[in-house]
Amino acid sequence: MRRQPTLEHCIVARIMKTLRTYPHVVVRKRHGTAMGVAGDPDLYGTINGGHFEIEVKRPNDPSSQLTKLQEQRLQEWAAGGSIVGVARCVHDALQILGLVRPEPRVRWTCESCRRYTWEGAYAPARCPNCGHRHFDKQVVAA
Ligand SMILES: [Zn+2]
Repeated sequence: MRRQPTLEHCIVARIMKTLRTYPHVVVRKRHGTAMGVAGDPDLYGTINGGHFEIEVKRPNDPSSQLTKLQEQRLQEWAAGGSIVGVARCVHDALQILGLVRPEPRVRWTCESCRRYTWEGAYAPARCPNCGHRHFDKQVVAA
């Protein structure tokens, strides 16, 4: 059975739900009507008084791309000083709005043998060299 790609409106709903948890963000879905401008992005709103426009595309679907008109509309909004971007997931939208910080890089060194180091958000369960379970933590970059 062919896996169905996630529908665009599902992503839109998830993005809106997440953005609504931020008190300094107001987000609206733009409904395509005869009164609207063709090609305008799916979502718009404000973050701390800064206007944003986000076009939503389906994740993992190369056929889901901006049309020429959508690209042009995004450029118009950007030229007017708006924050603009294309989101394929909630994380993309948060990134466009500057709501995600990069994960700090942490280096873990085995306390016992000192020969095993590991970089990641969490310490490994045990050292593959000596089996020790405790690691020294060192933040490499914020
Ligand atoms: Zn060790």
